[in-house]
Amino acid sequence: MSLTEIQARLRKAEQDAGREPGSVTLIAVSKVQPIARLRDVLDAGHRIFGENRVQEAAHKWPALQDEYGKVQLHLIGPLQTNKLKQALELFDVFHTLDRPKLARKLADAVQARGRCPELFIQVNTGEEPQKAGILPAQADDFIAECRAMDLPVSGLMVIPPVNEEPSLHFALLRKIARRNGLERLSMGMSSDFERAVALGATHVRVGSALFGARDYGKAG
Ligand SMILES: *Cc1c(COP(=O)(O)O)cnc(C)c1O
Repeated sequence: MSLTEIQARLRKAEQDAGREPGSVTLIAVSKVQPIARLRDVLDAGHRIFGENRVQEAAHKWPALQDEYGKVQLHLIGPLQTNKLKQALELFDVFHTLDRPKLARKLADAVQARGRCPELFIQVNTGEEPQKAGILPAQADDFIAECRAMDLPVSGLMVIPPVNEEPSLHFALLRKIARRNGLERLSMGMSSDFERAVALGATHVRVGSALFGARDYGKAG
């Protein structure tokens, strides 16, 4: 689907939800996609992209930004503390702050650099053991802990369990955000971004609907 078509669906979802047109940020999730597909979206004028691996982003984006100018890059995958420095160089927004150890390292690094990416805390609303994210019961404390470290947390992020109705998870994320005074919600992907907008998403992360299916075989 073209960028224009995705944007039209997003505008429609905003309208249906009584949200201001253009108030939801579309993150084009370009992980694993061939560079030619990224170029199509860049040529169409989009400048907000998401990647889930630091290494992959480091290989692709510096050269593309030399060519196209500044792109706002969102890290939407797990962040290892040993990749933190590199991630801070590359990304404008982190969506996956998910544990105290990472928060402490980030707070130290941010102190040293004097600036910080925009931060979303990932919440594991499905309480899936294999999935990253702070558990819902621990979210309030973790948010408070991050604030006490002067980390500028602006919102929450969720990846709902694959086989469950995502709306329940979007609603839970919104509830946790509201009671903690957080305004931004990173939720909704290709299959459910309209539902996420209806439940208050401020950032949707759309990959395959925009770029086509990811070919993991080829990308390695
Ligand atoms: C890959 C990915 C997406 C995009 O998924 P699609 O279903 O292709 O839109 C969104 N969010 C995260 C965290 C991802 O890893």
